[in-house]
Amino acid sequence: MTNGSLRLNNGVDMPSVGLGVFQSPPDVTAGAVKAALHVGYRLIDTAAAYGNEPQVGEGLRDGDASRDEVFVETKVWINDYGYEATQHAFEKASGKLGVEQIDLLLLHQPLTSAFDRTLDAYRALEKLLADGKVRAIGVSNFMEDKLTRLLSETDVVPAVNQIELHPYFQQKALQEFHGAHGILTQAWSPIGGITSYGGAQKRTFDDPTLTEIGHAYGKTTAQVMLRWHLQEGRCAIPKSVKSARIAENFDVFDFELNDDELAAIDNLDTGIRGGPDPDSITLENYSVEIPEA
Ligand code: NDP
Repeated sequence: MTNGSLRLNNGVDMPSVGLGVFQSPPDVTAGAVKAALHVGYRLIDTAAAYGNEPQVGEGLRDGDASRDEVFVETKVWINDYGYEATQHAFEKASGKLGVEQIDLLLLHQPLTSAFDRTLDAYRALEKLLADGKVRAIGVSNFMEDKLTRLLSETDVVPAVNQIELHPYFQQKALQEFHGAHGILTQAWSPIGGITSYGGAQKRTFDDPTLTEIGHAYGKTTAQVMLRWHLQEGRCAIPKSVKSARIAENFDVFDFELNDDELAAIDNLDTGIRGGPDPDSITLENYSVEIPEA
């Protein structure tokens, strides 16, 4: 299997499918990373707030790929926002991951209640980029109003905005905004994991439209969703800690959905967000102290 790749707005190439590790318990994270590298993944997405950067680093060191073959992405948590604090957050992350350079560093959330501090954090990313400590910078969970302010008050257009995006929540207007500004859309919960947390009633995995499309190709609903992202030009980072599913989620490069099938999936959008409203994230209710490396 070969992994497709996407070109970022600064010319850096990023694989189109990566492994996510949110909620991957630290004791199985290195194993998941190694399983992913073994079947061909070359992008790993983690975050300081996930508490498993050291184990991602362990998997990278022990896995079947050399450092320069793997695109390593992580995110700075809101507790570490500010010009100095965010530069130090890079040191913490690179130390835990065991890498000198991070391929893509994101701000995990906008801090609506302290957006000036968010802007200072982004200026720190710009400095890290200028210093060659990171190869690309971006954001996550930024809605159009926040992106507009970021674009007008900082210099480097984010390479990526990582947002909730699966068939039941597609954020089409935001995707168009990204397209107009050269920002790549990276889908979190790309197979709708968030629709099945907490015993939700309507899971993407059981969707009849996705099931029927999958039958035509001998593919699972997860594979159909990933193919949909790829064909619409997005990067997707499905999470699993199970080797069989990690392999399944990468086995998506040998079939092609037709236009009617893509349109049918586009029509599944409910407009209902599974995750928290990004404006509701504050230091008071989402504080996580990020330890030193
Ligand atoms: P996903 O859409 O990747 O779904 C993951 C869930 O689905 C897990 O419960 C997993 O369980 C299960 N699963 C994985 N593969 C399959 C399959 N083939 N068939 C059936 N079930 C499957 O959701 P996530 O919320 O984890 O999002 C993916 C990644 O996006 C995260 O890991 C993280 O890296 C990133 N993310 C970023 C956020 C942000 O704010 N920037 C927020 C949330 C996620 P199991 O492990 O047991 O296989």
